[in-house]
Amino acid sequence: MQQAWIQLQCSACDEGWEANPAQLPEPKRDFTCKHCGTTRRMAEFAQTQTDLRILKEFHGA
Ligand SMILES: [Zn+2]
Repeated sequence: MQQAWIQLQCSACDEGWEANPAQLPEPKRDFTCKHCGTTRRMAEFAQTQTDLRILKEFHGA
């Protein structure tokens, strides 16, 4: 099965990166930016609505 990687961006440090949804928590869970250590809800790191939708679909939300 093809895995879609999603674009993440941290609004605290402006760092952007790609991630595999399989290695990310659910959108409403806390996630800590690996670049600056800021913790926000996972959903807030999704760069676009499409990225958020892929993340939600992966977690069955
Ligand atoms: Zn950051």
